[in-house]
Amino acid sequence: MTTTTKEGSAVVQARRVLVLNSGSSSVKYQLLDMNDRSRLAIGLVERIGEETSRLLHTPLTGGDAETRERTGRIADHAAALKAAAEELAADGLGLDSPELAAIGHRVVHGGLRFTEPTVITDEVLTEIERLVPVAPLHNPANITGIRTAQALRPDLPQVAVFDTAFHTTMPEYAARYAIDVETADAHRIRRYGFHGTSHAYVSRKAAELLGRAPEEVNVIVLHLGNGASASAVAAGRCVETSMGLTPLEGLVMGTRSGDIDPAVTFHLKRVAGMSTDEIDVLLNKKSGLVGLCGDNDMREIRRRIDEGDERAALAFDIYVHRLKKYIGAYSAVLGRVDAVVFTAGVGENSAPVREAAIAGLEELGLVVDAGLNAVRSGEPRLISPNYARVAVAVVPTDEELEIADQTFALVGQAEPAGQQVPVGQVDN
Ligand code: ADP
Repeated sequence: MTTTTKEGSAVVQARRVLVLNSGSSSVKYQLLDMNDRSRLAIGLVERIGEETSRLLHTPLTGGDAETRERTGRIADHAAALKAAAEELAADGLGLDSPELAAIGHRVVHGGLRFTEPTVITDEVLTEIERLVPVAPLHNPANITGIRTAQALRPDLPQVAVFDTAFHTTMPEYAARYAIDVETADAHRIRRYGFHGTSHAYVSRKAAELLGRAPEEVNVIVLHLGNGASASAVAAGRCVETSMGLTPLEGLVMGTRSGDIDPAVTFHLKRVAGMSTDEIDVLLNKKSGLVGLCGDNDMREIRRRIDEGDERAALAFDIYVHRLKKYIGAYSAVLGRVDAVVFTAGVGENSAPVREAAIAGLEELGLVVDAGLNAVRSGEPRLISPNYARVAVAVVPTDEELEIADQTFALVGQAEPAGQQVPVGQVDN
């Protein structure tokens, strides 16, 4: 966007934010225009380091969104970001543009130190590195993404938005495990929680859907993607969440077990002779829905149930039973619940999961209207009948938009006087 000063010179407004989500073998990116918070382009580089690497890039500035694909080995994160930058440049959206205001990074673990989005300095990066022992699968990839982006645009503000930040308001009695305090503190063992960007965004949107301020409502958010977590949010602040030291605790997930007796791990080691790494892989990658029935896609599980598959039906029942336990527990934690909100891939799309999770909870004030539940929509919506004491809602999550908003609020360049839009008042 270009504006003209009184003297007539053109001033380029830096109002674009690039959001980067760097995983161990993938980079997802979105370029947003913060004037209207629209997407200019989205993309994904996957299987980085393998012969079968692939980049999918979709520019969204023209009429038809047409995805371009590149295949063939992309050696590392630096090459991945360079390839993404080339695709963006081909659409006139190059990262060297003066319109780019900042790069916002999803960082999984912010420990106790990072309670807010933070401009990345050398000291901040050192602290994120110090957290690698508690997030060995995630933080190294995030750090690589940050370093790569810094090399590409050293002059640009880079902001870390932490998955754990929203949960740092949990009271100590919810965050501590009941284990020896000295041991826990020495190794920073406590419940941190994840998916915080989503829980923050969705709980705020739910309040908006109810026509109330976030400070006035208590909500239970069920983020049901491949990874899944629940949170109890009282008056806009997280007071409890289901993931813990790592994303393994809590709900049944696509490939993670969620809650189990910790002694299962000793048993697997002592009796089954498994190594620590094998148990890690078993519980994180081969458990949950995939461990129970061989599939982790809820669509496929429902298809199998419709064909009479008993393993799929049992997996579904275990998944839903765990959800119900958390809804009950979080109702007790909150005391008064204004809404139960479903989000992410399963939560937004699976009417059978929503119906089954709420079924039988009338005593808690929870009822689902079958007709409303069956409606497919990308919009936030209520699926409970008018008379219900507690609202049940579906709110599509948007972690990238939340990261872009938080990044821009921190470092964004204000519009010239007269047109200034305070970011905090942007409707979202
Ligand atoms: P993540 O970001 O954790 O990878 P998503 O939030 O994208 O996950 O959710 C992915 C999951 O959503 C899939 O594994 C699948 O189980 C579920 N899902 C996606 N679309 C549908 C649908 N139409 N019906 C039921 N489940 C769906």
